[in-house]
Amino acid sequence: MSNETVANEKGNGKQRGLTLVYTGNGKGKTTAALGLALRATGRDMKVLVLQFLKSPERTYGEQIALQRLGVEIRQLGIGFTWTKTPEEHRQALARGWEITRQEVMSGNYDMVILDEINNALVIKSFLVDDVLPLEEVLALIKNRPSHTHLVLTGRNADEKVMELADLVSRVDAVKHYYNEGISSVKGIEF
Ligand code: ATP
Ligand code: MG
Repeated sequence: MSNETVANEKGNGKQRGLTLVYTGNGKGKTTAALGLALRATGRDMKVLVLQFLKSPERTYGEQIALQRLGVEIRQLGIGFTWTKTPEEHRQALARGWEITRQEVMSGNYDMVILDEINNALVIKSFLVDDVLPLEEVLALIKNRPSHTHLVLTGRNADEKVMELADLVSRVDAVKHYYNEGISSVKGIEF
């Protein structure tokens, strides 16, 4: 029996869903999560990508590519803090969190990626805890349908989120071309 056959038999879809966290100050958290979306889609798994801080007014390479593959990806944010009021951001987060809960609890997905939810949870410039309550995020991680893999990305992941996770990878910022004055490269950043 080949190694691949053994692996396939072990990974027969009955495994419990994992909680994976990508955090840290280096570049690569969202792209790591998107890599999982690609891999899971290749295995005919149903994937949903929810982007907490990105706005539907802009386009992203991952959005174009995933749509071509038939993978759902939604931007729940409304843009930068300086173009919208705190109340508008709070409303967007509240709506985004409601969508997240419904979609995760529906059991329709084998993998749900909550991109930049970690950053959203630690916003300090306006009150977040009543619209995106940490306790509810922790409860969703614990109580979601058992087959659903959950991926949470973003800097400054909360300690309690990391405690519940099965995997925490921290991306280190060893070097970034941003410091050489190169910013926002098409196909690399967006
Ligand atoms: P990516 O989406 O490329 O995987 P990321 O999700 O790890 O990046 P975020 O924290 O979401 O990174 O930041 C968004 C953008 O900020 C990235 O496109 C990235 O190039 C830039 N960035 C990330 N880390 C750094 C850094 N240490 N210095 C400057 N810019 C950074
Ligand atoms: Mg990111």
